[in-house]
Amino acid sequence: MRLGVDLGGTKIEAIALDDGGATLTRRRVATPGGDYAATLSAVDELIKTIENDLSRKGSVGIGCPGALSPRTGLIKNANSTVLNGKALDKDLSRILNRPVRLENDANCFALSEAIDGAGRHEKLVFGIILGTGVGGGLVIDKAVIRGRNKLTGEWGHNLLPWPRHTEWPGPQCYCGKTGCIETFLSGSGLSRDYEGLAGQDLSAEEISLAADAGDSKALECLVRYQDRLARGLASMINIVDPDAIILGGGLSNSENLYDDLIANIERYVFSDAIDTKIYRAVHGDSSGVRGVAWLWPKDMSEQR
Ligand SMILES: [Zn+2]
Repeated sequence: MRLGVDLGGTKIEAIALDDGGATLTRRRVATPGGDYAATLSAVDELIKTIENDLSRKGSVGIGCPGALSPRTGLIKNANSTVLNGKALDKDLSRILNRPVRLENDANCFALSEAIDGAGRHEKLVFGIILGTGVGGGLVIDKAVIRGRNKLTGEWGHNLLPWPRHTEWPGPQCYCGKTGCIETFLSGSGLSRDYEGLAGQDLSAEEISLAADAGDSKALECLVRYQDRLARGLASMINIVDPDAIILGGGLSNSENLYDDLIANIERYVFSDAIDTKIYRAVHGDSSGVRGVAWLWPKDMSEQR
């Protein structure tokens, strides 16, 4: 049995897969905000509950924002900033009393969709997460490309391309810079845009629902959101040129995000037209956590 735990900014989700990839169970709890020790305990509780329910032990994969720094071995670049500077893999390994494999959450998402999701027939897959943060993962021939500095796919912390006057220098990002793509395309980025226009603090999901109900200001924000997404993706396509881009995270559930997205990207990309496939994640909210469970190969899972 493979267990995957996705350590998100707002929720911690765990899944148990059998050897064929079928879901045995899944559970989620709210992330204890800003409390590292409580976060470790929450993961421990989730694993214990699942293993007790199923009367089996499993291999454990952990998906989280950021990555282990090659220099220090500690987490860096996590938008859940409480994780930064922590030996998350070693701490969880000690608490769970077994080896754990840790991977960037967007890499896990891209891997899951490339293995048996929307990108299963594609060679070069770029998976992006539009949620609490904005991340990305590159998978070639069903293998995650991590890069020399474990940075591959981190398009969310590039400057929003082709910025307008009103977008410059842009909002402050937790990474220390301003105007990062993430500050515009995260859920809180969309909420800030709507609040500036309508004077009301709504979640990204509420803005999407308001647009469906005909709220003109919500629609205006979503049109602007798609234009910013198109700019970010056009810049990324110019460099990586993937076969497919797969959208995940809470904001990828908005249906009207996909209408005209290719045409919008073509306004910016260095090509007369593009043949890039854009898919919504097949496994929906479960994609990331499924990819985490896939971190352990079958034979190692069976030893546990
Ligand atoms: Zn940033």
